[in-house]
Amino acid sequence: MIATPPFKRLALIGFGLIGGSIARGARAQGLAAEIVATARSAQTRARVAELGIVDMVLESNAEAVQGADLVILCIPVGACGEVAKEIGPHLSPGAIVSDVGSVKAAVVRAMAEHLPEGVHFIPAHPVAGTENSGPDSGFAELFINRWCILTPPEGADPKAVDKLAAFWSGLGANVEVMAAEHHDLVLAVTSHLPHLIAYTIVGTAEELEGVTRSEVLKFSAGGFRDFTRIAASDPTMWRDVFLNNKDAVLEMLGEFQEDLSKLTRAIRRGDGDALYEHFARTRTIRRGIVDIGQDEALPDFGRPKAALAKKAAE
Ligand code: NAP
Repeated sequence: MIATPPFKRLALIGFGLIGGSIARGARAQGLAAEIVATARSAQTRARVAELGIVDMVLESNAEAVQGADLVILCIPVGACGEVAKEIGPHLSPGAIVSDVGSVKAAVVRAMAEHLPEGVHFIPAHPVAGTENSGPDSGFAELFINRWCILTPPEGADPKAVDKLAAFWSGLGANVEVMAAEHHDLVLAVTSHLPHLIAYTIVGTAEELEGVTRSEVLKFSAGGFRDFTRIAASDPTMWRDVFLNNKDAVLEMLGEFQEDLSKLTRAIRRGDGDALYEHFARTRTIRRGIVDIGQDEALPDFGRPKAALAKKAAE
């Protein structure tokens, strides 16, 4: 908990998984003296008020940003331009304006033109999430030990970048700074393509003839189950990701299709060595992720809860 909050007023526009997690984390860590929030629908705004995590729930985006020294858009990527246009005239001089979108170059293009001089625009993407959405889905620990990527445009004020980096560190994240275009290429392979593959394979299983739906569900622990978690992610968010990171996703999809063709050929020819060599290589990537603390070696399901608790206590 920080003694003097670094921000006077944090305004969150959008209160779903990410906005709700920022609010809970910022409150727990004392990162803002006051937290205000708004959301698109009256229903979400009412639920946010009921949750009692923020100091004030406001009706409009314009009202919410007034007097705020940190404004974070926590809404789908495709809505960021419109909202930036709406809030532009109401922003306080010196305020930091940021977002959490999973795509960066398109968001920068959509937002920058609407933000007035004297406001610091520092886009961000916390690389953390779950398949859940809505105001109840957030939790204060979501960002702990995850990465948050900042993509400040050229000429951004380094002090504002540092201040936003400190905010994300306060939420428990590790911070990295990179160009928006580079972010989009990296995330195309680490996040966007895996989601596309999961959406595809779950759709394929759904449409199969000769295998019943109940068999797909019953025997899902054979691998399918892990894809279903990713494929349960919010359809609006992911529609916007693919519409807004088209070039990088298509580039990575091209690479993926080439590699898939190689594996297809190895299976057709009965080339066990090629398959073994490929699978051995990919296994080391998984081990690397566990080694740097981005996942646990324990499976998250299929192990009795008591055994998990015992292991955690050791
Ligand atoms: P979410 O749980 O669905 O919440 C989205 C929020 O945005 C809701 O408060 C919603 O308001 C509001 N909203 C939706 N459409 C809007 C519009 N057209 N104009 C204004 N507000 C709108 O979504 P989320 O998972 O928090 O994702 C928010 C952002 O975080 C996205 O840009 C996403 O790319 C990024 N992100 C997500 C994850 C993840 O794993 N989910 C991870 C990292 C970054 P109502 O409830 O009133 O509709």
